[in-house]
Amino acid sequence: MKMLLQDAIRQRPLLGDGAMGTQLMFAGLEQGNCGEAWNLMQPERVLGIQRRYVEAGSDCLITNTFGGSRIMLTRHSAADDVVGVNQAAVEIAREAFGDKDGYVIGDIGPFGGLLEPFGEFTVDQVRSAFEEQAKALVDAGADAIIIETQTSLEELLIGIQSAQAAGAKCIIGSMAYDVTLDGSTFRTMMGIEPERAAGFMEENGAHIVALNCGTGMEMERAKVAVERYKQTTKLPVMVQPNAGKPQLINMKVVYDETPEQMVKGLVPLLEAGTNIVGSCCGSTPDHIRAFRRVMDEFLASEENLNRWRTA
Ligand SMILES: [Zn+2]
Repeated sequence: MKMLLQDAIRQRPLLGDGAMGTQLMFAGLEQGNCGEAWNLMQPERVLGIQRRYVEAGSDCLITNTFGGSRIMLTRHSAADDVVGVNQAAVEIAREAFGDKDGYVIGDIGPFGGLLEPFGEFTVDQVRSAFEEQAKALVDAGADAIIIETQTSLEELLIGIQSAQAAGAKCIIGSMAYDVTLDGSTFRTMMGIEPERAAGFMEENGAHIVALNCGTGMEMERAKVAVERYKQTTKLPVMVQPNAGKPQLINMKVVYDETPEQMVKGLVPLLEAGTNIVGSCCGSTPDHIRAFRRVMDEFLASEENLNRWRTA
């Protein structure tokens, strides 16, 4: 039987994948349209993107379901088949691996609003949407669930509990941090610092603590976040930094870090003991290919592997 993801990454680090959203745009998705609906309407395009990540060396693929909860799909008038959208996403990711025995991580992104009393959504509404999505992903065979780009512990907790209710064997909590204006530290939009997030995730039964996306959270900052996580918890750590900063060029959002620039931060992340490294917005199969090359070089040395283990 395949090892659980949280066990496999204690033996050696694994490589995640790169961006989905920006790749869907390159494949023809119009800004503002529903990328998750493509799991049913344009599955071969989603498959093409994920195959390129597998070819580039990804060990883990995140499903194209970031906005696949009923609340998000309803905004796009695409909520007719919530279960189908999520199921298809798991099947596509599995197919993209072909013969390779990779890990399919079912993605749950933010529901995209605020909870009462600040917003108009009740905890029950969000819980029912996340439970429906988590169940569809787990039933379709996802190896893990990631609750991604989270800024509030309240929403994160609903996500973790929904994944538990769905019977997920591996649950990843992933926060989006923003570097503060003076550049001295980082916290989520809702003011959560990494130590607090890591402690909270561990207490509530997550198996992997993670960070993704955010503002100013490039590879070097991600390394600081990993160190701060590891001061709080012994759980494995996953990071997915953006490919630099977004810039508006000809009315298109372009991220400014090339694979060569970004990959410079990879060895320090591994030396800090990171268990899964992938990348978020703006990254491409070329970024992941560069990561694969440097990660393999790093892992070829027993001394490096020891340094990673004892970090
Ligand atoms: Zn991102």
